[in-house]
Amino acid sequence: MSTSITQQQLIALADEYGAPLYVYDAEVMRRQYRKMEDAFKECNVKIHYAAKALTNLQVLRLFRELGAGLDAVSIEEVKIGLMAGFSPEEILYTPNCVSFAEIEACVELGVKINIDNISILEQFGNKYGATVPVCIRVNPHIMAGGHYKISTGHIDSKFGISIHQMRHVERLIKSLNLKVEGIHMHTGSDILDVDVFLNGAEILFDLALDFPDIQYIDFGSGFKVAYKPDDVTTDIKLLGKKMTARYKKFCKDYGRDIQIHFEPGKFLVSESGYFLAKVNVIKQTTATVFAGLDTGFNHLMRPTLYDAYHHITNLSNPHGKQRVYTVVGYICETDTFAWDRPLKEINEGDILCFHNAGAYGFAMASNYNSRLRPAEVLVDGDKVKLIRRRETLEDVLATQAGL
Ligand SMILES: *Cc1c(COP(=O)(O)O)cnc(C)c1O
Repeated sequence: MSTSITQQQLIALADEYGAPLYVYDAEVMRRQYRKMEDAFKECNVKIHYAAKALTNLQVLRLFRELGAGLDAVSIEEVKIGLMAGFSPEEILYTPNCVSFAEIEACVELGVKINIDNISILEQFGNKYGATVPVCIRVNPHIMAGGHYKISTGHIDSKFGISIHQMRHVERLIKSLNLKVEGIHMHTGSDILDVDVFLNGAEILFDLALDFPDIQYIDFGSGFKVAYKPDDVTTDIKLLGKKMTARYKKFCKDYGRDIQIHFEPGKFLVSESGYFLAKVNVIKQTTATVFAGLDTGFNHLMRPTLYDAYHHITNLSNPHGKQRVYTVVGYICETDTFAWDRPLKEINEGDILCFHNAGAYGFAMASNYNSRLRPAEVLVDGDKVKLIRRRETLEDVLATQAGL
């Protein structure tokens, strides 16, 4: 959890822009990008930033300037990516269960299309034949083993075309004259074990030999970041080393060099983000001491949605004595951020900081309870930029009739 932003800076930002507030550290984003680029530098790697993790235009521009491409899962993300300056061929559109009309519209926009369903592939072949190359999302059916969770690559998952359906894919390619330029997998989040990742990669490398027009293999994402101070993370360097060896062998067997793609969201932006929230009340009950915040799962949903752990620090009293709190939001529904969390003594009015709030923080925020969504600030060295202003009630009502 190393950072270039200090606690004092965060407090000053909360004073200036008000809380709740999302703050992002551009240097941490760059550091993470370079870490990944460096680990795979001998693989002809292209890193696509997964826009859904944090979709602010300024963040997309930051990654574009670093040389990234973009992973988009909706036509809206594609359009935002184009606005941010990505060229269409740098954007891979990976939809799931969208209408064929949306896919056609993305073809019109010129982006790369990733198909994860046989019936869509068939419609695509009927319409475009070899005129528009495609990428195929494969479900390799690698299953969780023990301490980690793979949530999109397993047998019950709705994602991808099963590895066991490749014979059918082959038939479609032949009969509809499809041109498959890429194969893809994304097996889910928080993959810690390098070897699990490599097992999936092995399946794709093997499969790619059957496709003559491959330009790239996309290994998706799922790299784990540290949520707790002593958490272990995916050993990206080790993964890079092992992948490089395997990649080189593949290129030799295949007869020419191809590109390797990754599409991380969390790995690139999670650690760069801080969510700052003010404590409205301390409420002692018969069972615990609640710290009630001026925010809720409307602004940071991960704890409610996934039981995700976010490290919390009390910025206002960093040297206070330690006490145990249950940290909750103001939503009229249970929205617990943390149970039994040791924190430096909290007083009403203190500013708490949620760490690892860059990915799936603001991106999942809503107006539930008719609350306004927070502002976002990007810190880049000594430059501070408000990259999204706080909403107003007018924003929230803007689409309603009868005003
Ligand atoms: C969400 C998603 C990602 C990013 O996943 P992270 O765990 O944030 O790295 C990459 N690719 C696809 C297709 C996704 O849906």
